[in-house]
Amino acid sequence: MQKLEVRLKQVSMPELPVEERLRTFNEVALGYSEEQALAEAARCLQCTRPLCVEMCPLHIDIPEFIKLIRLGNYTEAAEKIRQKNCMPSVCGRVCPQEALCAMGCKNTIGDPINIGALERFVADWELETGVRVPEVAPSTGKSVAVVGSGPAGLTVATELAKMGHHAVVFEALHEPGGVLIYGIPEFRLPKRVVKQEIDYVKKLGVEIKTNIIVGKTLTIDDLFDEGFNAVFIGTGAGLPKLLGIPGESLCGVYSLNEFLLRINLMKANLFPYKSKTPIKVRGRVAILGARGMDAARAALRLGVDEACIFYQRKVVGRADDIRRGLEEGVKLYPSTKPIRLIGDEKRWVKLVELVKLKPGQPDRTGKVKLIPEPGSEFLYSAETVIIATEHIPNTIVAANTTRNIKIAKKNKTIIVNQENLEAANGIFAGGDVVSGAASVIKAIEAGKRAAQSINAYITKH
Ligand code: SF4
Repeated sequence: MQKLEVRLKQVSMPELPVEERLRTFNEVALGYSEEQALAEAARCLQCTRPLCVEMCPLHIDIPEFIKLIRLGNYTEAAEKIRQKNCMPSVCGRVCPQEALCAMGCKNTIGDPINIGALERFVADWELETGVRVPEVAPSTGKSVAVVGSGPAGLTVATELAKMGHHAVVFEALHEPGGVLIYGIPEFRLPKRVVKQEIDYVKKLGVEIKTNIIVGKTLTIDDLFDEGFNAVFIGTGAGLPKLLGIPGESLCGVYSLNEFLLRINLMKANLFPYKSKTPIKVRGRVAILGARGMDAARAALRLGVDEACIFYQRKVVGRADDIRRGLEEGVKLYPSTKPIRLIGDEKRWVKLVELVKLKPGQPDRTGKVKLIPEPGSEFLYSAETVIIATEHIPNTIVAANTTRNIKIAKKNKTIIVNQENLEAANGIFAGGDVVSGAASVIKAIEAGKRAAQSINAYITKH
């Protein structure tokens, strides 16, 4: 086995040069080579009380998989991760490790271990050399309908399949993967990686049906009538919440979801040669809201003159992706709030009026609210505007059912029993549809918990 190496700095991951990034949608982070992975793994202290594991929402045995890397046993390292996480190649790319496992890393003599890069290395190794599909339990004869094929739904289906239950996933779009396919751009998460992870789920016996909108094409009642023993709702939070300011219906104004979906799912960046879906984006682009980094980076790849994110406090995203966005030329304008959008005579957006914000008085909890600074209004000329604020769940799934699914008035999330994630008798829900827009890893965690609850429910009924 490789010895512990006292190397203070993380082994950096190779990346596409900036000029090349802006010409393509190819993945920016290129992943560790074997030599780099071994060098980074050699830095791990193999702590006896590893806080990295405690901070990982899935409690993956991180020191153990790193030890297996040091032994050169990459397949077993990947299997060690896969015992807890059915999508390691995805999580190795999109998890905000700096706020999770790497934050807990006790490597006090240097940078935290780049756990995400090591996870990605072994997971990609496994996908390239062939994933060993684990034995599943003998069939129980029970079946579960899983509504939504994002990370929560795919995790529930995987876990239930391993327990011997038949899981059928219903997806509204023509491709499975949910937010992994429509929400995260190719330059952060290549679609081939998502497809390979979905292939693994299918090999466990999970059935996936696309182009079915539960709540419209068929209802939750229909699913029970068809003989499913339980239903899981994992439809995410993909409905845009607009700003409620004048001018949002002007031409050239997109919601974040529409903008990314056109590119990620419909390949509008390849229009007209390889895609029938156009996207009109030009000039300067104003991205209004903290969730806009992916959109800004995508807009720059489409050749716009400038992409500027206007937001209040903090841009949402992984530290590496924010750094890469800034390297690519994304501009940030914090402490600002849009007031209105102004169009030309053809109703095409041409200006955004914003106001600067300053700290107000702390409220009862001590939180300082940002308030408009009088007289600080200013105009930003933009021919494209992307509204990148909060997303909320689409509640159509709960339509036309006799089951009493409760929806929170304020943010449209499904209300569940926090103990077992049950929303109504035999109906469970988890991921963004319950928590509001959060991270992929949180959705996977919810999927695992829900699978345990569903197993307990269908075993009794
Ligand atoms: S806390 Fe850091 S150094 Fe310790 S086992 Fe985990 S990854 Fe290794």
